[in-house]
Amino acid sequence: MNQLIEQLIRPEIRALKAYHVPDATGMIKLDAMENPYPWPESLANDWLEALRDAELNRYPDPRARALQAALREAMQIPVGMDLLLGNGSDELIQMLALAVAAPAAAQASHPNVSPSLSPNSPATGLDDTCHDPSLEHSQPWRPSLLSLDPGFVMYRMIGLFAGLEYVGVNLNAADFSLDLEATLAAIERHQPLLTFIAYPNNPTGNLFDPAAIEQIIAASPGLVIVDEAYAPFTDASFLPRLGEWPNLLVMRTVSKMGLAGLRLGYLAGPAEWIEQIDKVRLPYNINVLSQASAAFALRHRDVLDAQTASIREERGRLAAALADLDGGRGHLQQYPSDANFILVRTQPGRAGALFKGLRERNILIKNLDGAHPMLADCVRITVGTAEENQLLLDMLRELQNNDP
Ligand code: PMP
Repeated sequence: MNQLIEQLIRPEIRALKAYHVPDATGMIKLDAMENPYPWPESLANDWLEALRDAELNRYPDPRARALQAALREAMQIPVGMDLLLGNGSDELIQMLALAVAAPAAAQASHPNVSPSLSPNSPATGLDDTCHDPSLEHSQPWRPSLLSLDPGFVMYRMIGLFAGLEYVGVNLNAADFSLDLEATLAAIERHQPLLTFIAYPNNPTGNLFDPAAIEQIIAASPGLVIVDEAYAPFTDASFLPRLGEWPNLLVMRTVSKMGLAGLRLGYLAGPAEWIEQIDKVRLPYNINVLSQASAAFALRHRDVLDAQTASIREERGRLAAALADLDGGRGHLQQYPSDANFILVRTQPGRAGALFKGLRERNILIKNLDGAHPMLADCVRITVGTAEENQLLLDMLRELQNNDP
């Protein structure tokens, strides 16, 4: 390998593969949790008309004030809470990580580190407030980002980019519920600067017990970000609870509600946190076209809401049809979903064949086999339109008949 690459690029980055998105040209796309419905033509025309006012020769409003106001109203952001916008919620995760990650030399004195876990503490690295004997021979404290596994892969990736150690706490294998005891123990042990909880979770689709999340927020020395990317598909939310804990932030995105192409995420929380995180935002991160398009779309929220309602209905229908198709054999074991996708476990060793069989029939889903030990034999199917779901079911039946 080019020596300079070896010298300059960090080993952990060299070891990575770039984020891969399969080519979906001409395929029915049920792999990426997108809303499958395009806009009615009249609305699309009005949108193009609205874009006429966008000034492409000027930089966008750096604070996207008009869009922020529209989001506040449409999403019922609690009074007194501020918003930070990102180029997708991915960028917000990155901003959070950049804002807290400390260069190696500064780690020892990071203010968020409790004295018991700081490498500066006395010889054993322990004091009498810490009772975990396994820590006595542990590594010096490293700034970390904690999340639940299997979970959204970008928490780990962005943590790594920013130099944060990733602490993944396994969910309970039977039903992907939150293992509260293990999570609290990991928080006590690692003192994470950031804890991300996807609610509902990706790729498992379930909500966690809100009482468990409350305990995690209360026990966390760092920030807890409840990631509500799939909020359009559930009635559960921590958004109205902002302000109950000083360290709670709620992150959302417009991607899953039908605007994935705009790349717009928003982080809601107490003004003093938002003010700090805002400092690492690149000046014009939400471009002119995204600002104008998102503000327009929010004025026509009824269209997006109707689409979301259809997806919720279709999710129920798809789940029932998959259960029918399986006929109690356990070849397509599905997990309950509060999101716009369904996690399905195939027979042992069959996920790859199912994925390929569907791909050959022009349907793209996500093969998760190998992504995490708990996801062995699993695939994730995004809920499509009624027609797309029917085609998927027909193809699954065909595959089943070919390979009973
Ligand atoms: N959070 C979760 C849990 C997700 O599943 C995703 C996308 N799959 C995101 C955040 C990122 O969303 P976006 O960057 O499109 O806003």
